[in-house]
Amino acid sequence: MVTIAVTSESADEPRIAVSPDTVKKLTALGAKVRIESGAGARSRFSDDAYRAAGADVVTRSEAIHGADILLAVRRPSIEDVAALKPGAIVAAMIDPYGDRSALAALAGTGATVFSMEFMPRTTRAQSMDVLSSQANLAGYKAVVDGAAMFGQALPMMMTPAGTVPAAKAFIMGVGVAGLQAIATARRLGAQVTATDVRPATKEQVQSLGAKFIAVEDEEFKQAQTAAGYAKPMSPEYQAKQAELVAQHVKNQDLVITTALIPGRPAPKLISRAMIESMKPGAVIVDLAAERGGNTELTEPGKTIETPNGVRIFAPLNLAGSIAVNASSLYAKNLLAFLDGTMFDKKEKTLAVNWDDELIRGTLVAKGGQIVHPNLQTQAS
Ligand code: NAD
Repeated sequence: MVTIAVTSESADEPRIAVSPDTVKKLTALGAKVRIESGAGARSRFSDDAYRAAGADVVTRSEAIHGADILLAVRRPSIEDVAALKPGAIVAAMIDPYGDRSALAALAGTGATVFSMEFMPRTTRAQSMDVLSSQANLAGYKAVVDGAAMFGQALPMMMTPAGTVPAAKAFIMGVGVAGLQAIATARRLGAQVTATDVRPATKEQVQSLGAKFIAVEDEEFKQAQTAAGYAKPMSPEYQAKQAELVAQHVKNQDLVITTALIPGRPAPKLISRAMIESMKPGAVIVDLAAERGGNTELTEPGKTIETPNGVRIFAPLNLAGSIAVNASSLYAKNLLAFLDGTMFDKKEKTLAVNWDDELIRGTLVAKGGQIVHPNLQTQAS
């Protein structure tokens, strides 16, 4: 019988890697899920619900000791991984570009480690795409939290007592989070503009009923990599972009920034001077905080207020702040990955398909070594 361990995450991570729904399906694949008591509480999944789905609810060490697979949200500790069966499988959001020496130590345990962030963005892997499932929720929550902080109405309202103007929302970076932020801000009635460096986003922005603004020069036309991500832009482009943003941002009420480039610090799109030009009461929600932030004044994990009354909210785990939804979707992503690549459904045994492009794309460590090509060039 394949044993799967799931434990409580750290104090600042309310999500969990399995839901009662996915426990039922993992059990049907032939696995026994051993879950630490109370591990689902912050996602409102009770021990009883897990038991009813077929899990064993046990202590942390009973869950981990000798398990074949550890499913987690964040990169697990070396101690936890060392307590698994030798060579056991670990699947989590490993933060592959974060703390390199700790990653080497994790690899040193001999575990077979999969980084869910490296899931190829193919049609087949859509159901396993944790970046999308979590970014979508974060984009929604950024607007809802930003609107609450703004403390004024978003939609235009014409009433006998007078007209309330529509708030102006500006979304910077139109990936998965940005698209959901646009849709949410539109639903709340804001007047929405958005920008990105990838030309493909223009039509997406317009189809959501928002206005697209960008420096659309020759470099812009080439700004998307074959994998669909943004390239780092030249200093010349950045200067033109900064001029455009400076003109636009000073009139905005709510700015949501989501701009990221894989494996690099977040581009700084909003300078101190731009923030100083904004109106008192304006709010910036910086979803790029985890990679340093998109504004010059961002303090990751904090909310600051500038002397001119602009607040910059830089949450590190916005998806985690709607943990019920975030855990449900993350758990489904993991289930789809295990189901699609690791189980012999007839024999109900573990049978990792090492030739599968999704296995090769996400495998970070095996046999004591870091093996992912994206991590080979970085010094340890
Ligand atoms: P991301 O989180 O890496 O980045 C967010 C956005 O920031 C991107 O749109 C990027 O172009 C933008 N950006 C980067 N630098 C910028 C700058 N200097 N100024 C303005 N904007 C900047 O992006 P993501 O949400 O992970 O999406 C990346 C790509 O993957 C998109 O093309 C998306 O459509 C695609 N995708 C494909 C699938 C699939 O086919 N299964 C699933 C999800 C996403």
